[in-house]
Amino acid sequence: MDPGFRRDDICFFVQIMKPTPETLQRLKAIVGDKGFVVGEADMAPHLVERRELYRGKAAAVLKPASVEEVSAAMKVAHEAGLAVVPQGGNTGLVGGQVPDGSGEEIVLSLARMNRVRAIDTENNTLTVDAGVTLAAAQEAAREADRLFPLSLASEGSCQIGGNLATNAGGTQVLRYGNARDLVLGLEVVLANGDVWNGLTGLRKDNTGYDLRHLFMGSEGTLGIITGAVLKLFPRPQSVETAFAAVPDVEAAVKLLRIADGLAGGQVSTFELVPRIGVEFVVAHVEGASDPLPDPSPWYVLIEMTAGTKAAGLPETMEAALAEGLEQGLVSDAAIAQSEAQRADFWRLRESLSDVQREEGGSIKHDVSVPVSRMADFIATATSAVSARLPGVRPVPFGHIGDGNVHFNLSQPVGADKAAFLARWDEMNAIVHGIVREMGGSISAEHGVGQLKRDEIAATKSPVEMAMMRALKQALDPKGVLNPGKVV
Ligand code: FAD
Ligand code: ZN
Repeated sequence: MDPGFRRDDICFFVQIMKPTPETLQRLKAIVGDKGFVVGEADMAPHLVERRELYRGKAAAVLKPASVEEVSAAMKVAHEAGLAVVPQGGNTGLVGGQVPDGSGEEIVLSLARMNRVRAIDTENNTLTVDAGVTLAAAQEAAREADRLFPLSLASEGSCQIGGNLATNAGGTQVLRYGNARDLVLGLEVVLANGDVWNGLTGLRKDNTGYDLRHLFMGSEGTLGIITGAVLKLFPRPQSVETAFAAVPDVEAAVKLLRIADGLAGGQVSTFELVPRIGVEFVVAHVEGASDPLPDPSPWYVLIEMTAGTKAAGLPETMEAALAEGLEQGLVSDAAIAQSEAQRADFWRLRESLSDVQREEGGSIKHDVSVPVSRMADFIATATSAVSARLPGVRPVPFGHIGDGNVHFNLSQPVGADKAAFLARWDEMNAIVHGIVREMGGSISAEHGVGQLKRDEIAATKSPVEMAMMRALKQALDPKGVLNPGKVV
């Protein structure tokens, strides 16, 4: 057997080879000195993700500067049978962007492809390189008096390519949809180096299969996204933001429907915050304070936006909260009176993920159930994990309007972090079991990566898995793109 042969462990026969010094030289000649990283310190930030759950090694990190360079590099990698791990901003939470421990994979970072290519305010589209950060794409839209509505707490560093490859969700899905709903066209380099230029910007095109959607949520296993045409929207002229105390999750869902009914689709954010989350933020974020005088078991952050100033949003928000108070669904609420107060509400929500680190070990669940089952899910899962591990502190928060909750578990106070984290799979099994019984998803918005690969394979139907493998086989027959992830 060839000494370079490494594994055949994916879903069909693949031969991944170890890169030879000659192949690495060929890659270096394509991307130049600036784009070829092999020094240990320079590679380091690309080899571990932020939670440090996954740490890998690589033969090199490539940073191509153009689609031509990506294409030429993939032709070489494909011919030589090298494994390539596409990487965007490295903010992914399931280990999809991290190479394995062999030291033989190539990380391909899009960081140098960071140009805004074009903006068309009549077609309402923004065309960008895949390595443009989400914050930079939002800013480009804003400068043209438009809105690009995708919004995540990691927006300062995650990239459009990574957002599309994970079909990211975030805090405005309720109104504008997931990343896949915000894309009109793609440019993709395939495993063999061929370039598909699908940057049409068309809003209607029924000429056969919609190939762009294949790459949304494919997590770097089907192709390397190098460019995208994004949908723009009118920039909201009025915004109302409220922080409301609610007695329970059921009341939160009822309040959402009241707000929806009154605001006619103008509710852009409806996020659940538990009391323990507020306490964590107040304890660990400098300058943060409790938004309301009396503690409440649950809260919701509500935002409504409208295209015109005359839309009467302040009255609508007030009416929704008043109706909530009247029906006993709201016990108290504050409406932001200034940009600073709005920013405080948002900071509280956006810090929820980070502050859990300050409280020791945190076992994560990114799950969804039908919105109507949300209250039942949170109650059932809370009882089940507490029965198994007394003292565990559930911190369920997030996108309740989409039926998506981050059902995270903080370790019991004073517990040993390592011993707690060793129970990750056990806790996942309990929570995911309940999710499945309720017809939900065990990965609502973060993807599969390495973290959930085996579980997905064990729970999707054989027909679904066969279709996924057939697509992988068709687009990447040698299995060079992100092996060991997703399928
Ligand atoms: P990376 O982490 O670099 O990569 C993610 C995956 O995409 C990998 O499998 C990688 O191989 C692949 N990939 C990256 N770029 C490309 C490309 N150009 N072509 C092909 N494949 C590629 N996610 C949400 O959905 N909603 C949230 O609300 C949310 N909040 C977050 C909050 C915080 C604080 C953090 C740290 C993360 C959060 N995330 C959230 C997760 C993460 O930010 C998103 O998944 C994001 O879309 C990843 O983008 P990235 O550029 O960092 O991709
Ligand atoms: Zn989220």
